[in-house]
Amino acid sequence: MTNAIPQEQCNIAIIGSGPAGISAAITLKKAGVDNIIVVERESEAGGIPRHCGHIAFGFKKYKRLLTGPQYAKKNIAEAMSLGIKIQLNTTVTALGKGGKLSLVSQQGIYELNAKRVLIATGTREKPRSARFVSGDRALGIYNTGALQGMVYLKQKIPFKRPLIVGTEIVSFSALLTCKKGGIKPVAMIEENSKPTVRWPIYYGAYLFGMPLFLETKIHKIIGDQRVEAVILESAQGQKKSIDCDGVLFTGQFTPESSLLRMSHIAFDEDTFSPSVDANGQCSDPAYYAAGNVRQLVPEKGRNAYFYTSDNPPNAVNISGMCWDQGAEVAEHMLKSLESVTP
Ligand SMILES: Cc1cc2nc3c(=O)[nH]c(=O)nc-3n(C[C@H](O)[C@H](O)[C@H](O)COP(=O)(O)OP(=O)(O)OC[C@H]3O[C@@H](n4cnc5c(N)ncnc54)[C@H](O)[C@@H]3O)c2cc1C
Repeated sequence: MTNAIPQEQCNIAIIGSGPAGISAAITLKKAGVDNIIVVERESEAGGIPRHCGHIAFGFKKYKRLLTGPQYAKKNIAEAMSLGIKIQLNTTVTALGKGGKLSLVSQQGIYELNAKRVLIATGTREKPRSARFVSGDRALGIYNTGALQGMVYLKQKIPFKRPLIVGTEIVSFSALLTCKKGGIKPVAMIEENSKPTVRWPIYYGAYLFGMPLFLETKIHKIIGDQRVEAVILESAQGQKKSIDCDGVLFTGQFTPESSLLRMSHIAFDEDTFSPSVDANGQCSDPAYYAAGNVRQLVPEKGRNAYFYTSDNPPNAVNISGMCWDQGAEVAEHMLKSLESVTP
């Protein structure tokens, strides 16, 4: 008796139901492509915006500002109305040659053979371990994504007086989440000599009634069970202790590219993103990539609204940019699909 792995076929497989993946699916479907499958490992579709309860999404597409969940819901509703299939609770575990994907779902493992695949797996913040922060392994240490998931999706409050590390856009998004959860951060710190975001965005720290310490990093986290204090260190080597009950590491995004690293597809070790050509096509022509899994190079000046540098390293790109790129790459996928024999 053979235990053959179940096989499915499709024209297009899209890994990730965030703005880039959904926009690509909608573009392809509207162009007449059928049998598109979007694969999403979470129990609900929509990507990161689903976790961001504050208003700052969708202005370009919907001409009004929406919260992350409202924006995600509208995107998913459009995809569903077009009959696009979104497979939830399903994780792609390997990328095989020529578009052969290995997946795992509640029903078990199976393989999906797609003529073309879009990798739209997004990005994640660097956790404490990857930042080499020393000190105790106490409770109360989170990233913004985890905090937003707790506050907005589970209505849980992991700390009351955290220290916030970082001054990227997402750091200020974290402040809005803190406000929503009644959390009062004790300070915000930045290792560089100026905040990553521009004035007046960083003025938000003062509006929240807390100091912003520049040229400051964590020397050590202290806490037996929970975080009790953090010892800060200035660029001149001066140390001071600050009482807090948590640490929130924000930003320093890195592409969600573990699948790529394990695969045959060419990978850029400097940016941790797939090596792609101008059309978003990977070294294996069956694969494309879009959204924050790529180090997006924004149109000149587009980041200048937010950041003090034109193309800040590791900064997350806003959802509208990922949406646009998903649609653009889909057009190239469409052309390439036309050359595939049925
Ligand atoms: C904390 C935070 C706050 C933000 N605030 C704003 C804001 O105010 N305004 C704004 O415009 N933008 C904001 N952004 C940026 C915005 O969320 C992103 O630009 C956008 O979500 C990126 O879209 P994406 O499609 O590339 O990836 P994502 O939205 O990250 O979606 C990727 C999807 O892929 C899925 N996935 C990953 N790996 C697999 C796998 N192996 N198998 C199956 N599924 C997989 C994930 O579960 C996820 O749903 C914020 C981002 C963060 C992190």
